Amino acid sequence: MALKIKFRALLTMCGDPIENGELIVDDGNIVEIATTPSNNEGVLDLSDCLLMPGFVNAHCHLGLTALEKKLSPSDSFVDWIRALIPLNSTLDSESRVRGIRAGAKVMKRSGVTGLGDFVAEPELLPVIGGLGFRSVLFLETIGFHSEKALELSKNLEEVLKRECLSPLYQLGLAPHAPYSVSPDLFRHLAALAEKYHCPFSCHVAEIKEESRFLVIGDNSLEELLKERFAWDPEWQPPYKTPMQYLYALGILDRLIAVHCNFVSDDLDIMEEKKISPVFCPKSTEWFGRTQFMPVRTLLDRGMSVALGTDSLASNDSLNFLDELRMADKLLPDVSRREILTMATRFGGEALGLECGTLALGQKADLIGFRVPRSFSGPWSDVPFESHRREVDFYMVDGQRDAGLGVK
Ligand SMILES: [Zn+2]
Repeated sequence: MALKIKFRALLTMCGDPIENGELIVDDGNIVEIATTPSNNEGVLDLSDCLLMPGFVNAHCHLGLTALEKKLSPSDSFVDWIRALIPLNSTLDSESRVRGIRAGAKVMKRSGVTGLGDFVAEPELLPVIGGLGFRSVLFLETIGFHSEKALELSKNLEEVLKRECLSPLYQLGLAPHAPYSVSPDLFRHLAALAEKYHCPFSCHVAEIKEESRFLVIGDNSLEELLKERFAWDPEWQPPYKTPMQYLYALGILDRLIAVHCNFVSDDLDIMEEKKISPVFCPKSTEWFGRTQFMPVRTLLDRGMSVALGTDSLASNDSLNFLDELRMADKLLPDVSRREILTMATRFGGEALGLECGTLALGQKADLIGFRVPRSFSGPWSDVPFESHRREVDFYMVDGQRDAGLGVK
């Protein structure tokens, strides 16, 4: 039976705000947006709420949530990785799953309905896929030694073949980064992504050392790979920036590129290849980065910059409202309306998910914020208000999530 939801205001993220109307949901889809409310029969009265599409967290690693507050920023990113690896490898699966569920709850309470998550262990796919987000679960892969590329990609293909998907989630592929994945493995994964129509995502140009490693052969990353017995003595620096390197490998088309902190020489190829960059505001702040993604420039060049939390190994919370506020602080030349677009529509577009806007025929993934009667706008300021820790209404695929305590 259709559900009528009466609202005070509606941000569709594909048009002007609509006030004092009604949204009708049937079988998980939006079937009508009326500008005047009908009779009160079968109505869910949210006439004190702003409704908008749920947020899309386009980059996360829920499997690392149990590392909350166990790491602190170090002077060197390579030392941060050195600290992360043993902590992560000694986590027992019970703690990891408990962390995943706790992290999901925080994200949902803060309005996340869509998710792009990097999953390093295929056993976790049913756990994360069952959390109720509309999501892409990216199989995260590391392998710097070329000899291992074929075997790793064959194993991934087995996962792609056997994984039973739900209507809410699909699989993607995620080579970890240009300094941890061999050129052959990049090519194999890109071929798999093409064959299985998978979204493709990678951390790119996150750190200075990565650029130096590719341009001149940075010693600190070479040392790390040697410590991990992962160094390939045949490897030669390509003498290119990370983005130019991926371009030369032929894998840049529609890449969901996370971080992009050092891309000032790569703007033309990013625009040409219609990259979807993902900016992670609180992770950027956590590392104390002074140079980060040129979001204004990328938006002006027509790129759909999405937002992500990254993991609790480099962030102190998965509360997405905090990400909005941090984006607002770090990007003074980007409007709140644009930040909301990044947090919704552009996230959906990046991940290829049917979400991020509220329009006829669109999936009913929406959130609501209660607003005082005296509020006079602008409506796009509401999610940024400093007192807000959670949403007041939450729906994915037309289903209200009663387990959250969010009405
Ligand atoms: Zn990440």
